[in-house]
Amino acid sequence: MEHFVEFENVSKYYQTGSVRIAAADHLNFYVDKGEFCIIVGPSGAGKTTLLNILGGMDTCDEGHVWLDGQDVSHFTERELTTYRRYDVGFVFQFYNLVQNLTALENVELASEICRDPLDPAATLESVGLGERLNNFPAQLSGGEQQRVSIARALAKNPKLLLCDEPTGALDYKTGKQVLALLQRTCRETGRTVIVITHNTALTAMADRIIQVKSGQILSNKVNEHPVPVEQIEW
Ligand code: ATP
Repeated sequence: MEHFVEFENVSKYYQTGSVRIAAADHLNFYVDKGEFCIIVGPSGAGKTTLLNILGGMDTCDEGHVWLDGQDVSHFTERELTTYRRYDVGFVFQFYNLVQNLTALENVELASEICRDPLDPAATLESVGLGERLNNFPAQLSGGEQQRVSIARALAKNPKLLLCDEPTGALDYKTGKQVLALLQRTCRETGRTVIVITHNTALTAMADRIIQVKSGQILSNKVNEHPVPVEQIEW
């Protein structure tokens, strides 16, 4: 069976002086369509490296990465740009919003360059920010800014949503609300969502749990009984 996301023997090396680090060391794993997948591992495990390779923000040195039947690991620079623009939505720890644009303008900016975007205002409304369209990032809380960044990613109507420590800069309660939004988005839209985190407690909410350490996959398991994040304590 063809998987939606598939890594086949993927390696990425960094050379610092005489030391060579395998940030990704012959990775083999897959994620199926519509899954809420959590990739968990300690600091330096290679989580961001893996996500960046999947999102076309970085290239691998060996192996193949497949998304929806397409080998995205051997794209030309031009193909990579198109891939990042159309196929992948990113959510980062520190939101990365444009400070002198309103919430609506931030989302519009992303959707303007896309093939089949969603309506920016409606997308902001869907993340609970219908009343804050004309606010600038500095006028919003951290949780609200992260919601804008989620709306910005979703408005591109991407095949895949990639979230790198999306709650890393948020307090406990706000972090839970953001994760609940991501889980609801996955359930309601059938979009594949991949979240990376240090927090092993969060794995209880995932359909698929992938553990990484030292650039390697320790395990890739389906969780038959994912729970709403509201039920998890950490
Ligand atoms: P964290 O949770 O701390 O963000 P991570 O699991 O996301 O960590 P990565 O950022 O992918 O891990 O890093 C994996 C390894 O690759 C680490 O040992 C890191 O020091 C190394 N690394 C990452 N980027 C570079 C780089 N540009 N140059 C050299 N080494 C790097």
